[in-house]
Amino acid sequence: MSKIGRNEETNEEKLLLCPICNAKTRTKAYAKTVLSYFPLFCPKCKKETVVNVKQLNITVINGYPKEIGPPKAGFAKRNY
Ligand SMILES: [Zn+2]
Repeated sequence: MSKIGRNEETNEEKLLLCPICNAKTRTKAYAKTVLSYFPLFCPKCKKETVVNVKQLNITVINGYPKEIGPPKAGFAKRNY
């Protein structure tokens, strides 16, 4: 169970949760961390999801921005 208080004034750090399987990733963020188009990799489901993170709230982005393009072959395309 994770309790992310969006109104708490805190410098607490949290591990970001995978938007797909809800497992903890190894990426942490602070309450004041702002991430934009961040490729969040989940060690559990082995998937990379592009997200925005603000005040520890994760928003999934569908597709990649033109200026960045899709992930390079070899990283996200791993078959297990
Ligand atoms: Zn996952």
